[in-house]
Amino acid sequence: MFYSKYRPQQFKDLIGAETIVKTLKKSLAEGKFGHAYFFSGPRGSGKTTTARLLAKALNCLNLGSDGEPCDQCSSCEAIKKGNFLDVMEIDAASNRGIDDIRDLREKVKLASAQGKYKVYIIDEVHMLTKEAFNALLKTLEEPPAHVVFVLCTTEPRKVPETIRSRCQKFGFKRAGRVDLIRQLQLIVDQEDVVVAQEDLGRIVDASDGGFRDAENLLEQLIVGGLSISELLGGSQTDSLEFVKHLIDLDLGGCFNLIDDLFSSGASLEVFAQDCVETLRQIMLVSGGVGEELVETTRERYQQLKELSLKLKPSDLRQLLDLFLEALPRFARSPIVQLPLELLASTYISPKSISPTFINNSLPLVPDDRLSDSAKPVRIKASLPVEKPKSRGEELVEDSSAAGDPRRIDWTQENGDSNITLELICRLWEEFLEKVRPHNHSLRALLSSSRPKECLEGGVVVLEMFYQFHLEKVKEPKNMEILEKVLAEVTKRPVKIKCVLGDRSTKPAISVAMVNSKVTDSSPADLQNEVELLAKKARAVFGELGAGY
Ligand SMILES: [Zn+2]
Repeated sequence: MFYSKYRPQQFKDLIGAETIVKTLKKSLAEGKFGHAYFFSGPRGSGKTTTARLLAKALNCLNLGSDGEPCDQCSSCEAIKKGNFLDVMEIDAASNRGIDDIRDLREKVKLASAQGKYKVYIIDEVHMLTKEAFNALLKTLEEPPAHVVFVLCTTEPRKVPETIRSRCQKFGFKRAGRVDLIRQLQLIVDQEDVVVAQEDLGRIVDASDGGFRDAENLLEQLIVGGLSISELLGGSQTDSLEFVKHLIDLDLGGCFNLIDDLFSSGASLEVFAQDCVETLRQIMLVSGGVGEELVETTRERYQQLKELSLKLKPSDLRQLLDLFLEALPRFARSPIVQLPLELLASTYISPKSISPTFINNSLPLVPDDRLSDSAKPVRIKASLPVEKPKSRGEELVEDSSAAGDPRRIDWTQENGDSNITLELICRLWEEFLEKVRPHNHSLRALLSSSRPKECLEGGVVVLEMFYQFHLEKVKEPKNMEILEKVLAEVTKRPVKIKCVLGDRSTKPAISVAMVNSKVTDSSPADLQNEVELLAKKARAVFGELGAGY
């Protein structure tokens, strides 16, 4: 195992815990160390490795003046091989009862057999029972002079404060990306093989900051002979990238990434679960939860933070809902990419229409959010997975879709004659452009409208936000143009119905969405946006009024 083979044997080999090491070495060099230590931190952050080095230094026969164990004397050798009688590692998960701790208390009293100090490393100490904690506390209150305890845990808050307060506490963090890559590179060099730096980066990203996971993955790559994509498939980086495309309303980017993942043989269902985890982390970060509790690398934490600033709480909730809806669909979908493609389209399409209106009529509002949507989409032909769909499943899907007009009825996605909101959204730009030659003013009026829903019988409901616009558009000659052009674009017979939307909320949110700097809009900010919008609308109003 690489993890044990390349376990650091001296403090200087320990990467990513510099501050802790410095403090420990200083106290060892001065001979002023404590009798109980409390090491907390996520899995694979170096707690037990540091505990063993501490045990080594305490028993080293030739301790350096800087507190570094020599790694050569008989004690160091025995500890390295794991057969030093006075260093005991206890897994609290399997020795959690009162009898285990009573037994320990009896043994603690005995003099050390081999070395200067008896060192008890209790791993996952939070697993102890209440009675066992009480027994341990008695020992910690009056520890024999020749005994040192190191309590390690991934869940410090589950350990009673009475225990923690008796210990010197050290908080371990997940290592940074650079540190981990450096660590893996050392192993690669010693194994005398070649692994691309980029692949090391992917391993580090997939292991989410844990040394042990990263080293195990590297071992599978080098010794197991797996390729990097066999090993990782879709990684956390991809899920972060996908979420970023969603936030940027970059539908093309989403589709391309889905296609890449599909081509590489990654499980899209597992990938969707990764995305849920990523969104959850964004939710935690935006709620002010710190780096330690989000349990990720520093670099990834920064990326999550940047994304959280661009995402409104309501949009975050919508995305989480959409993913949770999409997950059970993977088992039923005739095309494995479809649940994710549908999710991206459902989220992005309605949002990327409203800002068009803002962009056209409000040139002052930055529109960098939309710059990516013009990217070309490439989709390779994909064969449907052969999975017969029972009639019952379709019925279930139909009945659930019927209740929510915003929801896209995806059982009708196979190019039949039905008009769906998704279809209208997709063709909206083309529709607007084809209206222009018929009537410029009408095209301008439509800029402040958006498709709201599709009803039975090919009726498309358009939402307008100003009474004046609504009245103008509803004039028979205009309706005639619109229905003719929309039928032409959708290649289906359509009827258009125009309704007045709620302008106090809808357009203002679009402004806030386009302007990524206005992320935490207070009600006052929103009110200002509404007023700005109304002002601009009055300008359009006047212009159009003159035209008619
Ligand atoms: Zn030594």
